Amino acid sequence: MPVPKFRTSASKRDMRRSHHALKSSSLSSCNNCANMHRPHQVCPSCGFYKGKQVMEVSGSQESFGEGSEKFGSE
Ligand SMILES: [Zn+2]
Repeated sequence: MPVPKFRTSASKRDMRRSHHALKSSSLSSCNNCANMHRPHQVCPSCGFYKGKQVMEVSGSQESFGEGSEKFGSE
C-alpha cells in the first residue's frame, strides 16, 4: 500500500479542499407557466416540456410543487 512520504501542509490541504464546496442546482423558468424548474426536466407545476404537455399534473401532488414554490417566492 502506498504511503505518503511527506505530511500535507495545512495550506496544501486547504487549497485542495477549496474546490469541495457544493454548488446550488441551477433553475430555469418554465415557458408555459414561468415557474422555476430544473433544466431539461418536465415542469412540475404544469407538466410541460418543450412547449408540449407531457405529464398530467393533479392538484393533490403537493410534493412536486413545494420545491418550485420555495424557489419562486424568493
Ligand atoms: Zn410550467
